Amino acid sequence: MASARLFSTGTIEKNGYSLFQGARKMMIFDKQPEGAVDSGSTIRIKGRKILEAPYNPASNLYDLTLEILLNRRVHLNVRSYKTWHRRFGHAGKEPLRHLPKNVKGVDQLDPADDEPCEGCAFGKSHRLPFPPSEKRATEPLELVHTDLDGPMRTASVGSGFKYFASFIDDYSGLARAYFLKFKSDAFRAFNDFKAWAENQTGRKIKRVRSDRGGEYTSNEFSELLRSLGIEHHKTMPDSPQQNGHAERWNRTITEKALSMLHHAGLSHGFWQLAIEAAVHIYNRQPMRRLKWRCPITLWDGTIPDVSYFRVFGCKAYVHVQKDKRKGKLDKKAVEMIFVGYEQGSKGYKFWNPATHSIVVSRDVIFDKESFPARKIPGNRPVTPDDSPFSDQEVPSDDASNAEPENFEIDIPLPIPLPEDAPPAPPVPPEQPAPPPPQQPDPPPAVPSATTFSPAPSS
Ligand SMILES: [Zn+2]
Repeated sequence: MASARLFSTGTIEKNGYSLFQGARKMMIFDKQPEGAVDSGSTIRIKGRKILEAPYNPASNLYDLTLEILLNRRVHLNVRSYKTWHRRFGHAGKEPLRHLPKNVKGVDQLDPADDEPCEGCAFGKSHRLPFPPSEKRATEPLELVHTDLDGPMRTASVGSGFKYFASFIDDYSGLARAYFLKFKSDAFRAFNDFKAWAENQTGRKIKRVRSDRGGEYTSNEFSELLRSLGIEHHKTMPDSPQQNGHAERWNRTITEKALSMLHHAGLSHGFWQLAIEAAVHIYNRQPMRRLKWRCPITLWDGTIPDVSYFRVFGCKAYVHVQKDKRKGKLDKKAVEMIFVGYEQGSKGYKFWNPATHSIVVSRDVIFDKESFPARKIPGNRPVTPDDSPFSDQEVPSDDASNAEPENFEIDIPLPIPLPEDAPPAPPVPPEQPAPPPPQQPDPPPAVPSATTFSPAPSS
């Protein structure tokens, strides 16, 4: 625990809390000042008191004892528009407006703090409309869109992936991404998706539409589908009017991922983690095409609880278990970067810049206003002019697994931490992590993205 530190009351206001002083104490409430009603002589505060500090005449300060309580569930619904905009991967105003009614864990948002956002420098201008003639399927797995993206200019950190295969259920909009090291792993990704989707729904895939180049438009894939009794529809090449569903979806997801990377100041190698997080968010975001319901709701009937969502790339103090500490003076928490949601374990994923590795944990405190990667000297963050995604179509001929000419490996630089940096954040940041959704448990069935590593791990 840090002692004798000062913190700014302005930061409290900025983070959506309100502060009242008087009667020899200071109180912090969990609502913005409009929660207070000033009737002339009395001020009635509608928010919930979360902290109280007595006035100390000796020091002329308010004494506030703060202790970092790890692994304790404190649930406060943050109302800030800006925070939810970031947590939802820089989603637009319309989907955010429909959040409170269509997900659990979000109160009515306050659009007052809708300010220009640097993460949003990406792409909103070229959103592709759905092809006008396209009618939505009437049940899950009646029609599945698929696409293969890559090779990326940079292999992903941690796992060295270069491609991702996406599958989108036309009826629900539910999407899954599979990450591949080689283009030739695409069929195995399809088989994995098919096994998962059919088992979860008890239905069979009827039709598959592949929109662009890559393995999924090949004759070999058509033959595989024919043998499974699945119809294969291919979008004609060179026909821009037929810009398909998968292509539109891919662009939405990559723009989300790029905004998240750019805002976080993370470098190219984090593309896979960003895509994975973007897909996770997408499946839980209200969509106009679904009358503002979320894909996951149409897929399995559940209303997603998103109270565990956090801002991608923000700083996190990850608790170190007692038995993992080397000595009595070893830090209780290590500073890391939040990089996504661990499927099926209710944990979060973190990048540990000191060890260059991904860590999964639930015991953590987030600081949603701090983005450590932005401060790394020599870091090459993703920018609108410098994206890890190639615009090239995946060639379907088979010069296949060769690396692109400009292929590179991203080695994220370690973040230098001052030796005496206290592990505790100076102000109450975001609430200690509620472990991701508690009840009802999302069916383990619906991770939005899984990694697919066909090569035996070495
Ligand atoms: Zn934004």
